[in-house]
Amino acid sequence: MVDQQVKTYQNYLGGQWLDSNSGQTYTITSPASKSTVLGAFQFSTAEDATQAVAAAQEASSGWAGTPAPARAQVLYRALDILSKRSEEIARTITIEEGKPLADARGEVKRAMNIIEYAAGEGRRMFGYTTPSELPSTIAYTVRRPLGVVAIITPWNFPIAIPAWKLAPALICGNTVVLKPASATPLSAVKLVEVFEEAGLPPGVLNLITGPGSSVGNALVESQLVRGISFTGSTEIGTEIYSAGARLLKKMQCEMGGKNAVILLADADLDKALEGIVQGAFGSTGQRCTATSRVIVEEGIYDELMDQLLDRTAKLKIDDGLDPEVDISPLSSESQLQKVMEYIGIGTEEGARLAYGGHALSEGDYSQGYYVEPTIFTEVTPDMRIAQEEIFGPVLTVFRAGDLDEAVRISNDVQFGLSSSVYTRDLPSAFRYINTVEAGMVHVNAPTLGGEVHLPFGGLKSSGVGQREQGVEAVDFFSEVITVYIDYADEARTQAPFI
Ligand code: NDP
Repeated sequence: MVDQQVKTYQNYLGGQWLDSNSGQTYTITSPASKSTVLGAFQFSTAEDATQAVAAAQEASSGWAGTPAPARAQVLYRALDILSKRSEEIARTITIEEGKPLADARGEVKRAMNIIEYAAGEGRRMFGYTTPSELPSTIAYTVRRPLGVVAIITPWNFPIAIPAWKLAPALICGNTVVLKPASATPLSAVKLVEVFEEAGLPPGVLNLITGPGSSVGNALVESQLVRGISFTGSTEIGTEIYSAGARLLKKMQCEMGGKNAVILLADADLDKALEGIVQGAFGSTGQRCTATSRVIVEEGIYDELMDQLLDRTAKLKIDDGLDPEVDISPLSSESQLQKVMEYIGIGTEEGARLAYGGHALSEGDYSQGYYVEPTIFTEVTPDMRIAQEEIFGPVLTVFRAGDLDEAVRISNDVQFGLSSSVYTRDLPSAFRYINTVEAGMVHVNAPTLGGEVHLPFGGLKSSGVGQREQGVEAVDFFSEVITVYIDYADEARTQAPFI
């Protein structure tokens, strides 16, 4: 039973805010304040998912028939509204997900950038013309929407990830059912409010909250859903990819990572140190692009470790709303349990706990899911902490004799999302770029980040299907149709061969 003081949020279907058929809700609390209930959300069912898909299907032809530049006008209005609500929404992210307010503001900006970029595509969305091999014939391509698409998102970027899928999906003329992570439904509600206020026609965007196992699964299994864009763990992504592929849907899954920085002996150490600390501990290590491994060339190892331990000890752990904060709480109790379990595993495996390793529960920390930044040294590639995604502020440090050994260690994992090298030597940088197995490669910069007009995504178990963002997003959210027009006066005497 939900307390009267707690606001209840509804699903958004066919342009209306509605209760779930289940008649049930669930509540979420703030990671920095376990006793603060942020709201009650619909505990939706497979039946709700089916209704949301029907609403999206109903709106499909109208939205697909709206010229793309006119669709763009809705996105520009959404951009304006999001800009006006940016501070409120950034605070919602911090309170709901836990990340520092500066990171949350950056996340809202990222969402604004992708909406702006996608709106611009409304006046491009290029096909091409090419000479036909036949006389009196024009051949060209044109883009069409897929129809209804499902967007399934994780909790760690509760505004940016839905936005970076939604904006290209909408500009291409698709209608959408959004299923956000159960842990962060409030940010998703606010994003949908923005698009509603921007004048998106009813049914073009639908939101249902509730468990992935029932709601998400029903979307994946629905015959009417023609494309699925998923971001989340490799485990769930693998299940969704196989289920969707079996039904011949267009699939895009962005998944886990185990991103490594390689530090060569000739690097600018100050620059590298800053990048490693930001990458490993920023947003409490809960970014998909976070740095979870540092592979250090022998000649610079001792100097790096001295400075890294010193710098880490100065990080301030606090509520994400504190303006001075470096490390805020983990997003949930289950995240805290998982991170602590991996710290235990690392110790048992024989890695050396060089810094941190404890959950914090004294004083104000008792209200949230706090853990110290943690550094393991003497890590070897066969250890679980070297191979598995921990998704918290835990850094594993390796030694390497040279660049080739460092790249071998970097590549020796199932993941391939983001990567980085610090060196002043151009040939080494290019050798690295040409051999490292990662979808995003940085030189003298952290493993973090990405710009919305460039593709984002991973190799191996980190990503499958077309890349997100950039022009690739239009490729995913549209089908290319090939058109031949014969304008000859007379019938052709020879039939085509195929
Ligand atoms: P999960 O895989 O647990 O969940 C992701 C989404 O899938 C949630 O909305 C979840 O719903 C839903 N879901 C769960 N089970 C099913 C199912 N059977 N069918 C359909 N949908 C389902 O990931 P997390 O939310 O824990 O996110 C963290 C992960 O996301 C990390 O591995 C991280 O690396 C990855 N990530 C990858 C990025 C990339 O671009 N490569 C970017 C950001 C994060 P519910 O919440 O209800 O369980």
